[in-house]
Amino acid sequence: MKQIYAFAEGNMEMRALLGGKGANLAEMTNLGLPVPPGFTMTTAACHDYQQQHALSDALLAELDQHLQALEQATGKRFDDPTAPLLVSVRSGAPISMPGMMDTILNIGLNDQTVQALATLTADTRFAYDSYRRLLAMFGNVVYGLSESAFDDVLTAIKQEKGYTSDLALTTDDLKQIIQAFKQLYTDAGKSFPQSPKAQILAAIVAVFESWNNRRAVIYRRENHIPEDLGTAVNVQTMVFGNAGEDSGTGVAFTRDPATGERALFGEYLLNAQGEDVVSGVRTPQPVAVLHEQMPEVYDQLAAIATTLEQHYRDMQDLEFTIEHGELYLLQARNGKRTPAAAVKIAVDLVNEGLIDRQEALMRIDPKSLSDMLHPEFDPQALAAHDVLATGLPASPGAATGEVYFTAAEAKAAHEAGHQVILMRQDTSPEDIEGMIVSQAIVTARGGMTSHAAVVARGMGATGVVGMHALSVDEHAKTATVGDIVLHEGDWVSVDGTTGHLYRGRITTTAAMVKESLATLLDWAKAASRMGVYTNADTPKDLQQALTFGADGIGLTRTEHMFFQPERLLQMRRLILAKDAEGRKAPLAALEKMQEQDFYDLYRLAAGKSVTIRLLDPPLHEFLPHDLREINEVANELGLEQNQLRERMAALKEVNPMLGHRGDRLAVTFPDIYAMQVRAMMHAVFRLADEGVTVAPHIMIPLTNSETELRWVRRLVVNEIEQMASAKGIQVTYEVGTMIETPRACVTADAIANVADFFSFGTNDLTQLTFGYSRDDVGSFLPAYLEKKILPADPFQTVDTEGVGTLMKMAIDKGRATKSQLLIGVCGEVGGDPDSVAFFDSIGVSYVSCSPYRVPVARLAAAQATLRATKKAKARS
Ligand code: PEP
Ligand code: MG
Repeated sequence: MKQIYAFAEGNMEMRALLGGKGANLAEMTNLGLPVPPGFTMTTAACHDYQQQHALSDALLAELDQHLQALEQATGKRFDDPTAPLLVSVRSGAPISMPGMMDTILNIGLNDQTVQALATLTADTRFAYDSYRRLLAMFGNVVYGLSESAFDDVLTAIKQEKGYTSDLALTTDDLKQIIQAFKQLYTDAGKSFPQSPKAQILAAIVAVFESWNNRRAVIYRRENHIPEDLGTAVNVQTMVFGNAGEDSGTGVAFTRDPATGERALFGEYLLNAQGEDVVSGVRTPQPVAVLHEQMPEVYDQLAAIATTLEQHYRDMQDLEFTIEHGELYLLQARNGKRTPAAAVKIAVDLVNEGLIDRQEALMRIDPKSLSDMLHPEFDPQALAAHDVLATGLPASPGAATGEVYFTAAEAKAAHEAGHQVILMRQDTSPEDIEGMIVSQAIVTARGGMTSHAAVVARGMGATGVVGMHALSVDEHAKTATVGDIVLHEGDWVSVDGTTGHLYRGRITTTAAMVKESLATLLDWAKAASRMGVYTNADTPKDLQQALTFGADGIGLTRTEHMFFQPERLLQMRRLILAKDAEGRKAPLAALEKMQEQDFYDLYRLAAGKSVTIRLLDPPLHEFLPHDLREINEVANELGLEQNQLRERMAALKEVNPMLGHRGDRLAVTFPDIYAMQVRAMMHAVFRLADEGVTVAPHIMIPLTNSETELRWVRRLVVNEIEQMASAKGIQVTYEVGTMIETPRACVTADAIANVADFFSFGTNDLTQLTFGYSRDDVGSFLPAYLEKKILPADPFQTVDTEGVGTLMKMAIDKGRATKSQLLIGVCGEVGGDPDSVAFFDSIGVSYVSCSPYRVPVARLAAAQATLRATKKAKARS
């Protein structure tokens, strides 16, 4: 089997075999773009290596052939005293894992060829600079010598000579550094191989091995990248960005990866190699400056950017090098972007005619939408804070948290329940674990494409980089800006949109929907079969959900309306009353309050359907808990403490979740539901008087049987009919039920006789199906997940096998009775994309979820429909 492909032999379809980078280099080569020649060793060769722990003879033979071909194509040879061939060896997995695996540049340099390179380029300094870079990279990647040991040598010499920049190093300094680097090898009992062939073989092995290094493994786990993909290895002729002031290297995006704005965006450094740009050690120049420095190169780059975008029909991330004024492309791939940029780019590409709406909808990860809805700082709170320092706005959003200066400390603080912000001098891929748990990442050095910036954007975390006024001392656990010292654990706030850092905690406000998101959500709505409603208990929730395009309210939990102090008091009066007589006064008080609640929701919904669920309170939630509260309540209610305690004892339940809640309460205290229905009708009448027609949807919780629901329904309907006839108007209404017990699922055909709609309460249904108390899973669920006894938390992602089967049964039975029965889901999983896809497949009519998850559910619903349609088409 062929294990190596020259760039000209591959193409973009061969990603699995050639890795993303290899497939793209091949594609670009075939597009006629200026790509330095080279070849790609396949992921199959990587698998083979992983099994044998050696490079096979067949692979070595192919390698020789390709090296010869490369020598012919370039007219250069390994170890040649006048024209030495130098190559880079880079990893490249089928799915991009930026910075997680290894790369070695300048392979082919040794004590002889360094002189040849010096003569050839007439630049001795450049040749020795390249050699010292090879020694450091090779030592670190192949022998695991610490990167900082090499850095320390460099820093020591710079300090000794009083230099501030690497560029000040002279050839003699570089020779001295090379000697010191070689000494580091010797100290570790190693030696640097002078043979280019030995170098390349060691480099290939190191890249294959780096598939399993710690940071790569963590990155894959975090990004759900399969373990068995393997990496390809790209061997490519070197071009030199560090060959003088007419050379340089950079990274460019065809659109702004933070905002999605259409403009060539990126950074470069003159007289530098790739690592200098991404490591953040020197702060690069924006690509726009290249326009002035090298107008022809800039124009060529811009033209290539357009060609590539048109070709790949997506925003591209390019790596380029300029060698003596000549532009080369080293890499192009779909660029990482913030969730907000992803949406803008997808919508813009549709408007530019490059992709269609369906493709735009399929390109966005629904989960990422909640990231772009991050709140922003409350402008008033912000006005009270002075900007402490400003850096480059690498990844938008507003974040506040306690500051930590190492990834390990950030991680530990996060595990201890703190909200953390990671602040570093600069970050390296080793910091990934700390970055994952941080609200925001702030670095003193680095540019917009530095590691910290790329990773923060990818994760949707707020990021600010290159904050030069900041100096971080991780050993002292402090950071300073001028006279101000921040200590570990101090609160800071970070704005990733402006790049500002503030001291203290700043409150945030709800996010606004960006224009392109609104467009995307409109397309999603038009494309999806299921509706998306919101769970909302207050006008504020509803308002937020409506801005996200919710179709209406799928669940109002009326018990949540009773937690404010004056209502709680009335509720306690109600619960603790001895008899119906004692309940009258609190019911009257609550009725007034509820009427206003319902009126406000109906009014705001402006004709959209509002499903209000009658009281479902586990009673214990409303009782006083500690002694102080008991005292207060006894006083408020004019009871002796003993009397109160007696009542409480009578109400106490061993298992309140399975106790006196849901419609059981209506059976024992019918006057409570009657009060709620009256409040609802008064609200409907008030709106009718204002010329607004409302058709109330009333939902009964925790139903177990047809007989039970028939009983409760009669109570509700009687109240409505009496009031409507007294008022003399016709009211259209629906009385439906939650389906949230296994018994309700199994008898759904009978229940459907008396229900106008169903809505699955998957929280309770999961609780009752598994027999897991939904409030007590913390003690065992993590172990189940860790030991893979459960594939996911069933309260977050629906358990399709068990709970899902019951749901399917309920849907089939319900619709056997009423073929058009409307069936929703209003438990937590209603906003989970994987669950939404499942609900679509079993015929659920709509999902309802918390306001911030409405966009997520909407896009997931559209994707589910699009996938189902595609599948159906493929079948027919
Ligand atoms: C449910 O059980 O899924 C539901 C929506 O009701 P609650 O969470 O209020 O019990
Ligand atoms: Mg429930």
